[in-house]
Amino acid sequence: MSRPRLIRPVTSPFDSSVRVPGSKSITNRALLIAGLAEGRSVLTGVLDADDTRAMAGAIADFGAVVEADWEAGEITVTGIGADPIKGPLTLNANQSGTTGRFLLAIAVTGTGAITIDGDAQLRDRPIGDLADALVALGARVETPSSTQSMPAVVHADGLTGGEVALPGNISSQFASALLMAAPRMLNGLSIELTGELVSTPYLDMTVEVMRAFGAEVSEVPGTGFVVAPGGYRACDYHIEPDASAASYMLAAAAITASTVQLEGLSSTSIQGDMEFAEILAQMGATVRHHADRIELTGPSQLIGVDADLRDFSDTVPTLAAVAAYASTPTTIRGVGFIRNKESDRIEATVTELRRVGIDASETENGMVINPGPLQPAVVQTYDDHRIAMAFSVLGLRNPGTRIANPDCVAKTFPNFYRALDGLHPDREPLVVVIDGPAGAGKSTVAKAIADRLGLLVLDTGAMYRAVAHSAITREVDLSDWDAVGDLTKVLRIELDGSTVLIDGADATQVIRTAEVSKAVSIVAANPRVRAVLKNQQRSWMVAQGGGVAEGRDMGTVVFPNATLKIFMTAAIEERAKRRAAESIDFDYDAAVADLQRRDEVDSSRAVDPLAEAPDAVVIDSTNQSVDQIVDHVVDLLGDLVRP
Ligand code: C5P
Repeated sequence: MSRPRLIRPVTSPFDSSVRVPGSKSITNRALLIAGLAEGRSVLTGVLDADDTRAMAGAIADFGAVVEADWEAGEITVTGIGADPIKGPLTLNANQSGTTGRFLLAIAVTGTGAITIDGDAQLRDRPIGDLADALVALGARVETPSSTQSMPAVVHADGLTGGEVALPGNISSQFASALLMAAPRMLNGLSIELTGELVSTPYLDMTVEVMRAFGAEVSEVPGTGFVVAPGGYRACDYHIEPDASAASYMLAAAAITASTVQLEGLSSTSIQGDMEFAEILAQMGATVRHHADRIELTGPSQLIGVDADLRDFSDTVPTLAAVAAYASTPTTIRGVGFIRNKESDRIEATVTELRRVGIDASETENGMVINPGPLQPAVVQTYDDHRIAMAFSVLGLRNPGTRIANPDCVAKTFPNFYRALDGLHPDREPLVVVIDGPAGAGKSTVAKAIADRLGLLVLDTGAMYRAVAHSAITREVDLSDWDAVGDLTKVLRIELDGSTVLIDGADATQVIRTAEVSKAVSIVAANPRVRAVLKNQQRSWMVAQGGGVAEGRDMGTVVFPNATLKIFMTAAIEERAKRRAAESIDFDYDAAVADLQRRDEVDSSRAVDPLAEAPDAVVIDSTNQSVDQIVDHVVDLLGDLVRP
């Protein structure tokens, strides 16, 4: 699992243009159908993501010839045409619901034993109604698990087709799967959809792609579809940008009073999720449709909505993120079925809204969101790309939002964070530095500021201590600059919260002894050591995307462009008391003497001496509580950290 990612707040409205990657839903339909078609198809605008790679892998496994240039978004597919998919064969859908469900329906039109499987998350998602419909058509489908889920084993011998009924309220993917398999059935198929239908735009999308590849599909209004037999013919097909992915970009502009141009999407899109822009318009955004793009500008104040999202339910977490910033409550309805997505998306969204301080509650088929003040938090993502992306958007206005397991976005949008960052130009990481002498209160205050802002602390003193400790234990002569410099290069110092690891071993305690405190000033005066650690400190900050760094030369040398520089001081008596309390073998008098000596050495050394940066804010912590100091710092950061 990747480390939590800090989201950089938008500090002033942006006006940006973005082209999001190709539609996942269209890519997976086009890939599958091209894989079944007679002849060679060229697909352009293809999405490169885990789910589409799963489908491309599967069609290659059943015999289609796939030549992919993923970077260019172009895939050439020579389909199997009239040939059946032949078992014994296992097709793996990984985490991709569309891939697994679509393949299951196609497999029954083949011959032999064909197994459809996926990863643990997909194995938890239902396929019962689809399997039942296929069995009703005469197929043999076995789901060894008691819950009617993947893996599914098909004993195939073609299918005559005919008529079938399917509940329309669980997943439109089932109906789409049957539709796409239908042209390969001897007599075609007539599908009756029963019950309340969800996500009907996805069925329209399926029909659209099928027709592009030569299938004959007619809609029976209000009941279902009739599909003629005859298979598919290859074609060149362009895939439009993904409207669900676009929802995050629209939402980002909506909540920050910004403007975004979504290139390549228009009102003629075949994706139901385009409807999301209309919901944002109801909330106060201005939406303009152009022939080749959609433009949205967020209002100065959003208002809540009461919206039924059954036809574009992938945008539920996105709407929830936007609703957190509205002036009135929002109700989302009609989406009880999204409890079966990559996560229980109703529960996940509500839980994470609460984590950031929003009063939200689940309803049977949706949720109610009461906006209010937000707070920093590490948002959990349940390995669900849409939760990660929606709450990243929320973080654009809530400083200190961190996203757990951020890499799960790769399922559908591998470059998501780059796209989001690219929207707002002011994406310099938030770097707060605190310099000052030992015992001034730097580490306590650094930790408190970091906690308040949702950042991590870089304790650079611990790095110098780690070098000093290692030099002592390895009996390296402290005055031999080259030797200690070489040692610094090979040490692997890791700072993880409050623990310090040296080459993987916990050194949190041992670097705080009097012996190390004595040695550290010598080590810290070594220019070779400083050069190595300086680079490591800068890399740490880049990797974290911001943070609170404390030390002696943070503002003057290591981070000269820090967002905020603080120089902390305190009366020496106070500093000695603090040091004595935090050290494992110090007494008060020794602490005073040691501090005086270290102040002298740190301030007078030739390289990077301890000094106030000219643009640092001096804070004397002698008579102030930690909370008072943190409030002061938050004030100094002002709009940078205020929603
Ligand atoms: O903050 P702490 O007392 O743990 O730091 C140990 C020593 O490391 C300091 O007394 C100082 O000599 C050195 N140091 C430094 N530059 C930093 C951080 C610490 O020279 N940025």
